[in-house]
Amino acid sequence: MQIFNTMTRQKEEFVPQKEGEYRIYVCGPTVYNYIHIGNARPMIVFDTLRRYLEYCGNKVYYVSNITDIDDKLIKKGQEEGTSMQEVARKFEAEYIRDSDGLNVKAPTVRPRATEHIGEIIHIVKDLVDSGHAYVARNGDVYFRVKSDPGYGKLSHLNLDDLESGNRELRSRMDDDLKEDPADFAVWKAAKPGEPYWESPWGHGRPGWHIECSAMARKHLGKTIDLHAGGQDLIFPHHENEIAQSECANGCTFSRYWMHNGFLNINNEKMSKSANNFFTVREIADKYGYEPIRYFMLTAGYRMPLNYTVELIESCKNSLERMYTCRDNLDFAIEHAHGTDTALVEKCEDARKKFKAAMDDDLNTPDALAAIFDLVKDINTLSDASDKATLETAAKTFDELTGVLGLLYNRKKTDSIPAEVTALVEERAAAKKAKDWGRADAIRAQLTEMGWSVTDTAQGPKLAKL
Ligand code: AMP
Ligand code: ZN
Repeated sequence: MQIFNTMTRQKEEFVPQKEGEYRIYVCGPTVYNYIHIGNARPMIVFDTLRRYLEYCGNKVYYVSNITDIDDKLIKKGQEEGTSMQEVARKFEAEYIRDSDGLNVKAPTVRPRATEHIGEIIHIVKDLVDSGHAYVARNGDVYFRVKSDPGYGKLSHLNLDDLESGNRELRSRMDDDLKEDPADFAVWKAAKPGEPYWESPWGHGRPGWHIECSAMARKHLGKTIDLHAGGQDLIFPHHENEIAQSECANGCTFSRYWMHNGFLNINNEKMSKSANNFFTVREIADKYGYEPIRYFMLTAGYRMPLNYTVELIESCKNSLERMYTCRDNLDFAIEHAHGTDTALVEKCEDARKKFKAAMDDDLNTPDALAAIFDLVKDINTLSDASDKATLETAAKTFDELTGVLGLLYNRKKTDSIPAEVTALVEERAAAKKAKDWGRADAIRAQLTEMGWSVTDTAQGPKLAKL
């Protein structure tokens, strides 16, 4: 599989350190509010990558953190008259509910920053001891950017660019605690009323970037295979993670880097601060979770994706077509009467096309197109196909849609209530006796119960309304 590596800015073969095992770290959300659909993009994109790697027979260790300490959380706790912890626990639970709704597989580990303070202090201490960080007079600890010759390699910025960008910042800083404006906090001294932990530098709390360095090392090791997140994290977050981890560990932090493009609204990045966001929850309440997942897969993950209601509605319709095709297949299997096997080859074609697309830097739009080619073939060929062929088609369909994490809301036919089955049988008998009035009345009753019945050459076909 080829992926576009942000570090080298080119597509490369994605080879893990240990054959058949991928160690992946994806930056998770700061849990101070419901997640918006922009936050859902990396969740869905990298979950799909994980599913594909697993489908290809690999073991994937997937870590995605919960940022449960940060200025926004502290502020929200104060505003609401509760604690930072209470806010974090509430929105962590809401985040997990949305993740489950979007069919994002639970990470192997979902570490919380506040449960890794020991590991964080350990790395900060290593950085201070080796001269890569220094303690400011108020108890803050800063990373000394000039001590890292590799700094800027991910974002392709050089220190001079940063310096001019930061000059204005410096002139606005009345209490300059840093040696250099590019330096960033790895540990922050506690301000009155803020949550804090004991540390060798007094009461304080971690800076933002250090938690990912500490949790990646603890749960995946010093060198991981892939680090991922949204494009906005390239600088400063990921650049700073690299600096901290590589200076503390003395080895490459991550072999590959992937970043998803922005989810936009009116062609502007969706974000809480711009107040132009829709939460996953509000869209899901209206349209369901699955169209959101589908929507994220309709564009290459590096491309900007503009959200509109019309697009979500069209995704819902596309999903409908997939569900109908799959339900028809079940029905065809049950009533198979043909002898044709041509569909088997079509399944092989679809699988090949699907894999070629996914191998090309996770080209999910082409992968979806391969599935829709198969939908067309199933619709035209299933009536003439034999049972084994139809079963192969169903298996292939489930396999490919499953890799994309789609079609997870199928209503099992075995969940048809006995009462409904009895009515269908009674209707068939009424029709046989040419009692059309009774047959129509039963159809109306079934509709009221949420079921539609269609007459086909193979007999009546039930579907949930
Ligand atoms: P945050 O809670 O802001 O740290 O964001 C969590 C994840 O969502 C990060 O990987 C961000 O890069 C990503 N993200 C935030 N906004 C967007 C957006 N509008 N489009 C795509 N990804 C985003
Ligand atoms: Zn991170």
